[in-house]
Amino acid sequence: HLPLSEAARGAARIRTSFVDSARPEAAKALAHEWAPSSWQSKPIKQEVIYPDQAAFEKALSKLESLPMIVHPTEINKLKSSLKDVCEGKAFLLQGGDCAELFDYCTESQIDAKIALLLQMSLVLIHGLRLPVVRIGRIAGQFAKPRSSPTEIVDGKEIPSFRGDNINGFDPSERTPEPSRLVQAYFHSSTTLNYIRTRLGAGYADLHHPFNWSLSHIQDSEVKAKYLKTVEALTDSLSFMKTIGADTASSLRGVDFYTSHEGLLLEYEQSFTRKWAPTPGVNGGQEGWYNTSAHFIWIGDRTRQLEGAHVEYFRGIENPIGIKVGPSFKEEEFGRLLDIVNPRKEPGKVTLITRYGCDKVESILPGHIEAVRKTGHPVIWQCDPMHGNTRSSPGTGLKTRQYSSIMSEILSALKIHKEKGTWLGGIHLELTGDNVTECVGGSEGLTDADLSTNYQTYCDPRLNEKQALDVAFTISDYYRK
Ligand code: PEP
Ligand code: MN
Repeated sequence: HLPLSEAARGAARIRTSFVDSARPEAAKALAHEWAPSSWQSKPIKQEVIYPDQAAFEKALSKLESLPMIVHPTEINKLKSSLKDVCEGKAFLLQGGDCAELFDYCTESQIDAKIALLLQMSLVLIHGLRLPVVRIGRIAGQFAKPRSSPTEIVDGKEIPSFRGDNINGFDPSERTPEPSRLVQAYFHSSTTLNYIRTRLGAGYADLHHPFNWSLSHIQDSEVKAKYLKTVEALTDSLSFMKTIGADTASSLRGVDFYTSHEGLLLEYEQSFTRKWAPTPGVNGGQEGWYNTSAHFIWIGDRTRQLEGAHVEYFRGIENPIGIKVGPSFKEEEFGRLLDIVNPRKEPGKVTLITRYGCDKVESILPGHIEAVRKTGHPVIWQCDPMHGNTRSSPGTGLKTRQYSSIMSEILSALKIHKEKGTWLGGIHLELTGDNVTECVGGSEGLTDADLSTNYQTYCDPRLNEKQALDVAFTISDYYRK
């Protein structure tokens, strides 16, 4: 294998020497070889063009020289937990912002998000009687795929906001700026460092105390249901405290993993590092690891079988996600899964389905059958957010209805049960802050409330109460 620096230099050569029309032949020529840079010979969607190429190359060289953010041994630990999810022995909770901004890297915002995910996982553990694997959309979830490369702002057509690691939200900052890649690294590492610090100190020590106050709940039946769960949970926790089990390592060392969409492949390539286990010390596969996060996923817009993203993802050892939208064809599953998971490892691939509450019933059963025929083990995860976006009448604000989100999850649960497959997890856009971006939930937010605290720069997120609503409702489904 080429040392990374050589592979990267090769990459730089490929990058500048291939024009678009030369790509098909290049793709054929490199069909059987994978390298961290081999994606560069494939057609790419959502490409970012940097006007300042010299500064771009300099930023990438800097990234290559920086230490990894997460270690392959952690990645392998997650992979083995995901094997349990795949086999129906654990549940996967993945959540966080649609798009992180560098400004979200503050103690209070990270605390709020971590506390919320931990609290949700407690509720889910209680309901499912199974361990919950927690993955944040955090510490690197910056780059965003866009439906259009430009947008009209104040009557002027300007480049779309592509995420804080590429350009700025302010209309004056829309030119891709290479130094943002390096800033993304430092914000990711700082965020993860703070998460590790917090969890290392013991989760009972989190600033944001678990907020079980249920006074916001409008419906008395819902309130009574939640109250039952909370009483059972607080009882168990205080029992553990009494016997001293709350300080046991299992509660202190809560596992928490990071993830983001692997969209900007130059960035991902820079963190693709070769690693081999030491016999007798640790396990795992020798190979290339993406060390920018434990888990990365391919978006619904970049999952073309012959495309650059699938090419990059097929060579890394990390567990990966693939977004599956309504346009995913049944006949594509076999080829895609063969490409990214040739060893058919359970826990390697999570299919993140996101159809919308009005389409899930007609599409998911066929997709389940199609995957069954491939013989590939997959984790089925429901993303009830991305198929349920609508614009709010009057303001035009992008929003999502809690009832649609819950309806897609409950449909997925029902369909998997009928098909004899395991819905292994949920994938949510949420924040621990008290935002008003989604409508509905036990607090009864309406379209008219959206402007109260609408903060997102990308998709609307569940606030703390709405996210807990989801956890309580799933928990309740399993307790029944
Ligand atoms: C996302 O997860 O924020 C996203 C863009 O999703 P999808 O690729 O499913 O549209
Ligand atoms: Mn989103």
